[in-house]
Amino acid sequence: MKPSALPASDDHAIVIGGGIAGLLSAHVLARHFRRVTLFDRDRYPERPGTRAGIPQSHHVHVLLTRGYRILKELLPDFDVHLQQMGAPLMDWTNDVDWHVAGGWTPHHPSHLRARIASRSALEWAIRQQVVAMGRVRLCDGVVVKRLVPDATGARVLGVEVEPKAGAGDVRPGLHRADLVVDASGRGSKGPGWLEALGYGPPHETVVNAHLGYASRLYQRPDNWEATWQTLYIMNQPPHNPRSGVLATIEGGKWLVTLVGYNNHYPPTDEEGFMAYAKNLAEPTLYQAISQATPISRIHGYRRTENRQRHYERMRRWPGGFLCIGDAVCMLNPVYGQGMTVSAMAAQTLGRYLQRQNGRHLDGKLCLRFQKQLARSNSPAFLAATSDDFRWPKTQGDPPRGLALMHNYIDMVFEAALTSKLVHTRLLEVIHLLRPPTSLLRPDVVGKILRNRFSRAQA
Ligand SMILES: Cc1cc2nc3c(=O)[nH]c(=O)nc-3n(C[C@H](O)[C@H](O)[C@H](O)COP(=O)(O)OP(=O)(O)OC[C@H]3O[C@@H](n4cnc5c(N)ncnc54)[C@H](O)[C@@H]3O)c2cc1C
Repeated sequence: MKPSALPASDDHAIVIGGGIAGLLSAHVLARHFRRVTLFDRDRYPERPGTRAGIPQSHHVHVLLTRGYRILKELLPDFDVHLQQMGAPLMDWTNDVDWHVAGGWTPHHPSHLRARIASRSALEWAIRQQVVAMGRVRLCDGVVVKRLVPDATGARVLGVEVEPKAGAGDVRPGLHRADLVVDASGRGSKGPGWLEALGYGPPHETVVNAHLGYASRLYQRPDNWEATWQTLYIMNQPPHNPRSGVLATIEGGKWLVTLVGYNNHYPPTDEEGFMAYAKNLAEPTLYQAISQATPISRIHGYRRTENRQRHYERMRRWPGGFLCIGDAVCMLNPVYGQGMTVSAMAAQTLGRYLQRQNGRHLDGKLCLRFQKQLARSNSPAFLAATSDDFRWPKTQGDPPRGLALMHNYIDMVFEAALTSKLVHTRLLEVIHLLRPPTSLLRPDVVGKILRNRFSRAQA
């Protein structure tokens, strides 16, 4: 991506929130603005580590192959940082034991590779690169309180900030910018901030499968040998709502996340956690962690609903303001799409800024970005919500034709147990490399029919 002509004005952009979406947005903005300031309310840890603003960092975070490829393209040393931290490179068809539809998927090499690491390590690797570029000023420990409009209310002039004690030399009060980007995540105050400016809250689509997480870090047993780097024991709708993932992350540690749909929240006490693991559809994960040493407490998480804020449908929008990442589109995390969708959003932002070529970003032009972003987010949102409706207690409006789709996907899962082609194609769709319609192509359909026929013969 080449830098566009710089805007004629003050050339300053502000990003609210320094998670994955905020860091990547700041990185892209730095190609188009002379100065970029990123405010995060948390103090960043001095080493890769968890922080209060990212409670999800205790849980398994898989970076899909599409996201991994985009991050390597945007940040050339991203992979080197992860490698130095000991994050293993994983081939998703060869190094994962995936238990689905009552069986294990086959092992075979493929192009579906990505490093697997904790969320803290991934964010650290991104942050190191963004800092190294030198055009982004990271101001941690600074809370953004509100958007500040100009005298007409047609434009966002900047933000009002409140530094926490010990937050360096950031002064409290108004910080002006040509462009403000809200990347403050699930808890974004964006709707309220816009309302205060007279722009009304956005319409929202919410789908809640009442899913809960419980996770714990383990030291794996000495001399451990297995065919897998990652284990995924998947739920079996509609009867068994429990899933479990064991991911080998940086330093060879095991991060184990248990997941339950339909209010079947995995417990966060020792006994309950182990009992839940024992009741997964298959015992391998339970057997592995029974031999391992826990090195963290068990962390729970339940704020997992899918929520799409339809900013793109708003009729009026202030100039100089954009919204990105989980602040716009929150996805049920179990499908592992959030970071990749944020990386795709950063690409969308880069293309959008390139096309504006330094033009003054009035409300109309900003709204155009929100429309482009909605188009980029929608396939992931549709995939996540469609699958969530397999569970009877899921709340929201189901899309049409779901029963047919669920039946077909079940046949794809079954065929993936015996066909490398179907297994690879299914993962390409899950990793957002191909559209779901590629599962309807004749080569896949042929394998599905053959599988059905041999099952009927058996
Ligand atoms: C349990 C769980 C598991 C997940 N697993 C996966 C996975 O396997 N794979 C995957 O790709 N994604 C996963 N995700 C999603 C992923 O974490 C996010 O989608 C992705 O990181 C993008 O988030 P974000 O940067 O938009 O927001 P966040 O990561 O929430 O970052 C928002 C930032 O804004 C800061 N902030 C908030 N308010 C203010 C304010 N007023 N002023 C200043 N700063 C502020 C916060 O401190 C924080 O740093 C998971 C999410 C959850 C909840």
